[in-house]
This record gives sequence, C-alpha cells and structure tokens, in this order.
Amino acid sequence: MEKINFQKIVENLDSAVIAADYDNKIIYANRYFCSLFNTNCEMLAGKNIYDFLSQNSDTVIIKDYTYKISKYDDEICSYYYLTLVDSQMEKVYSDFISTVSHELRTPLTSIRGFADTMIMSFDKLDKAQLQKFLGIIKEQSNRLIKLVENLLSISRIQVQQNNLVVKSVNAVSQIEQVMDIIKNQYPSRIFEMYCADNVPNILADENKFQQIMINLLDNAAKYSYDKGSVIVRVANASRENFVSIKIEDHGVGIEPNNLGRIFEKFTRIENHLTRKTQGSGLGLYIVKNLIEKMNGQIFVESCTVLPNSGSTFEILLPAATYTGQCKKALEDK
Ligand code: ADP
Repeated sequence: MEKINFQKIVENLDSAVIAADYDNKIIYANRYFCSLFNTNCEMLAGKNIYDFLSQNSDTVIIKDYTYKISKYDDEICSYYYLTLVDSQMEKVYSDFISTVSHELRTPLTSIRGFADTMIMSFDKLDKAQLQKFLGIIKEQSNRLIKLVENLLSISRIQVQQNNLVVKSVNAVSQIEQVMDIIKNQYPSRIFEMYCADNVPNILADENKFQQIMINLLDNAAKYSYDKGSVIVRVANASRENFVSIKIEDHGVGIEPNNLGRIFEKFTRIENHLTRKTQGSGLGLYIVKNLIEKMNGQIFVESCTVLPNSGSTFEILLPAATYTGQCKKALEDK
C-alpha cells in the first residue's frame, strides 16, 4: 500500500485539530482550527494552547458554538480534537434553514410583488415599465436557479456523487455565455475579457465549469461598486499543461485574515456589501470542490488597503492537450 499522507488528511479535516508540546506551546493547528480564530498556523506557533482552550474543561465555546475536546498524548506532544457537541448540530442545521429560507424568500417576494403589480395595473403600465418589471422577475428567477443548483451541488458533494462528464471544452466561449447572463444582472458593471494567443481547450465538465464561472463572476460583480470593472484573463498557466483563468474585480476586497475562510460552507465575511447583498455562503465552497474534482486549483489575492483594490481569483484547469495521467485520473472519478 502506498504511504498514507496523514498530514494532508488532518489538514483537510472538517473538524479542528491542534497539537501542543509539554510546555503547552502550540506546534500545529489544522486549517479548520485556524479558521475558527481567523488566523494561520504560523501565527499560532509558539502561543500557549490555553489562550484558546480552557485548562479545566473538556468543552470550549468558539463563535457561539460549543465544541467537545478529545485529547491524545504521545511522547512529543498532546493532540486536541474538537467536535461540535450534538446539540450544536441543531444550531448549524437551524442556521442553515434560516439562511436558505431568507435566500428563497427574498427573490420569491420580489417575483410575486412585481407579478401582482402587473396583473392589477396591466392597463396603466407603459411598455418600458412592463419591460423593467419582467426584467426584475427574470433576474430574481436566475438568482433562485443559482441557489437551487448550489444546494443540489452541496448534497451531491456530501454523498460524493458529483459525476463529471469530462471533455475538451472551449473555456473562452463558455465564459462569454456566462458573462452575458451576469452582465444582464449587473448592468452597472463593466465586463471585459482578454485571451492570450494559443490557449488550448480545457479538460472539464462543461456544466460544472459554467457553474464555477457563474459563481465567480457573480461574486466579482456583487462585491464591486457601480462602474466597477470585472476583467477575465485566460492564458497558459506557468504550471505546464494547465490553463489559467483570472477573474479580477475592483470591489471591496477581502481582509488577509479572512482569505482562508471564504472557501468554507455557509461562510459570509462581514463587509458593508455583504450586508446589502444576497448570498448563502455556499458559492466558493462549491467552486473549490468542483475545481479540485477536475484536478485543478484555485487561488485568491485580495487587498482592502486601497479603496477599490479588489480581489483576483485564479483558477488552473488541465489543458485538453494534456492527455496523460491527469485525464486518466479524471476519468476514474
Ligand atoms: P456568498 O453567497 O456570500 O457570496 P460565497 O461562498 O460565494 O458566498 O463567498 C463567501 C464570501 O467570500 C462572501 O460572503 C464574501 O464575503 C467573500 N467574497 C467572495 N468573493 C468575493 C469578491 N470577489 N470580493 C470580495 N469578497 C468576496
């Protein structure tokens, strides 16, 4: 049997793990633990574990949730494994229900409101008003479709059932189609796309690639200001046999200590636009999951120092010309 990479498994666990030496100094914390405290492993290293966990209790409350702590010792250090206590699962569940209900109710209320107005005042409305109302109904329906698709993806991810139909896909023409949809929803944003010469097709599932681009372009527009530009750049990646797609915006940006959290499910980072915009915190979790299933990677760079400095999300996907191991691995999924 090939050597198992336990560190990678622990790093990507959906539970918090932390290790401290016998002077109680932290020597390791996995990504989940770091995200609970909006920090990273380097920042935690050397700090006292009891600044984060209580010395006399086998539970700890972090961000309103109670975690049970299980401790294991070996000759070098103690490992602490944090799991949500059962009753807290109900809180996670009820938070989820309330987010989703809100996300469903807002567009539905708007659709019903405009449909009612059109039915009751049909004769009094002029063509321009009718067109505007129908436009809003269409936009809100698209929002609902996106939410339902994201919810279906979440349940497929949970039961490991995201069957991919991988083939050679022309990324640029798919992005153009998605851009047209998003442009309609955000007429006050400026959209541009640049494609370098000789970029090959990508190896991807066409529908999933569209879902990825809808989420990323929708976010880029949503977290930007009026007249803000959203730029997509397609090029050969510096990593051989991969295509790079960058989605660049000039919006609110993301604080560096929140960058690690944005890919978690149900996570919305507080900023003055998240308060005003709709969202379920599912988009980036799904995006990352789908990209990794297609043997790709996603990176983000962002800045909040200057106004409008914005964010750039970069995805790398295998080039269709790369028919070796990568394609085989995808076919096996
Ligand atoms: P949401 O439905 O809230 O948009 P996502 O999973 O798509 O959920 O994104 C998670 C969080 O990451 C958002 O709530 C937002 O705070 C932040 N975010 C995502 N994309 C951007 C972006 N382009 N600019 C600024 N913040 C972003």
